[in-house]
Amino acid sequence: MAKLLEGKPIAEIIKVQLQEEIKGLKDKFNITPALATIQVGENPQAAIYLKSQKRLAKELGIEFQEHNLASSTSETALIDYIKKLNQDKSVSGILLQLPLPAQINYKNIPIHIAPQKDVEGMHPENVGQALFGKMRIGSCTALAVMELIASTGIDLYGKEAVIVGHSEIVGKPVSLLLLDKFVTTTICHIATGQRGYLPTHVKRAEILVVAVGKPGIIQGEWVKEGAIVIDVGINRVEGKIVGDVEFDKAFERASYITPVPGGVGPVTVMMLMRNLVEAAKLQQGD
Ligand code: NAD
Repeated sequence: MAKLLEGKPIAEIIKVQLQEEIKGLKDKFNITPALATIQVGENPQAAIYLKSQKRLAKELGIEFQEHNLASSTSETALIDYIKKLNQDKSVSGILLQLPLPAQINYKNIPIHIAPQKDVEGMHPENVGQALFGKMRIGSCTALAVMELIASTGIDLYGKEAVIVGHSEIVGKPVSLLLLDKFVTTTICHIATGQRGYLPTHVKRAEILVVAVGKPGIIQGEWVKEGAIVIDVGINRVEGKIVGDVEFDKAFERASYITPVPGGVGPVTVMMLMRNLVEAAKLQQGD
């Protein structure tokens, strides 16, 4: 039977470290990190995330600036707005709330956020640093996955990891971060599933990271005995939030498994704040 890998206690430890670092920034440079969030239009889902980011920023002593743009904002106008925030010395980090209205293609945006203010770690320069194992600001979710794995105390060297999902925000950066720790890494995606090879790969995984967005896509009986299972998926089923892994059966077989909700989520938002602190330090040449 698995141990439940809950995100909150891990996030709390990181929070204490961040509070120290934020105090250090005040003492050394007389600055308080400031997070500017941009929301284009209204969205109830984004409002939930915004609320938890705002609460955490307050607890950490981070300044939180809300920038609300009209839902009719064009892609060019959004980019111009970001460029102004890039120049604004009172802003340490820029966070774009998703989803965006249909006229804006998210993929065109990260390149316009100054790399040193890119708290989501999606600017090509920050993505590239991960490739060289030199990342200071990275995808919050990928960093959260790494923190959760590290909290188990497992020696990663030479372990077999299988990542299901190859998005820019989760699967790809997680694979780079694991490779950097000499983990043997397999990435599965939609085509793996279509060919029917998902169980073959998943059954080998000593570390299994799933980020698909389809409830129960990973059957519990595929999980290797003793595996560490990180379920990134968030799905609403009959009014309840569930992950991508068939939890009850996987729980019987794994050594550690994250709950959904309460696993990856609380660590992800803490990683956003860690990126912000890192951004503030970089801007001071620290
Ligand atoms: P995405 O839609 O960008 O990518 C989904 C991935 O799943 C793709 O790589 C696709 O090829 C793969 N896939 C789809 N069907 C498949 C199948 N049948 N077999 C194998 N692979 C398949 O999604 P994303 O942005 O990476 O998010 C994935 C999930 O993680 C979503 O549920 C999202 O809500 C959640 N998420 C959670 C957090 C968090 O902090 N907890 C953060 C980001 C995303």
